[in-house]
Amino acid sequence: MKYTQPDLPYDINALEPTISERTVDFHYGKHEKAYIDNLNKLIKGTEYEDMELEEIIEQAPEGALLNNASQAWNHIFYFFTLSPDGGGKPTGRLAQAIDRDFGSFDEFKKAFVDAGIGLFGSGWVWLASDSNGKLFIIQGLNAQNPLRDGLQPLLTFDVWEHAYYLDYQNRRADALNKLWDIVDWSIIESRY
Ligand code: MN
Repeated sequence: MKYTQPDLPYDINALEPTISERTVDFHYGKHEKAYIDNLNKLIKGTEYEDMELEEIIEQAPEGALLNNASQAWNHIFYFFTLSPDGGGKPTGRLAQAIDRDFGSFDEFKKAFVDAGIGLFGSGWVWLASDSNGKLFIIQGLNAQNPLRDGLQPLLTFDVWEHAYYLDYQNRRADALNKLWDIVDWSIIESRY
């Protein structure tokens, strides 16, 4: 299978002012594209050629193929979690589970951003659930993905510097806190 990069579900400048057009242009147009291009080169002629991306992430050994598969998946997931119509808060079962597992929505947001700030180097901060619906905040180094550990990813913030440096420079905390304005909770609820 040759993986194709999905179009963004919004205009390239639609996430402004939280994320600039320039950042989306580089992050989606160059970084995400490069991971997908690399993945297509690396799977050619291997047992992974006809697998779903999720199967590669679950099965491939540590190395370049796994890293590029994960980074392709993570970026697609990230951009599809964001929306110019996002913000607000979750409702229903997910809102109840957040209150149960983190105390309140505000406490969850603080713990999530703190996990992103505390991640040393590059990576992703994740909200994921287990098969019982219990929620976890996970610090994923580099290309790490909760699918690898049998968990269901619900939300991720990219904490690689390329995700925020053009807009926020070294202010990772500001970049992460602003993302709540464009998180689409209806999509996250549909994943739970
Ligand atoms: Mn990225």
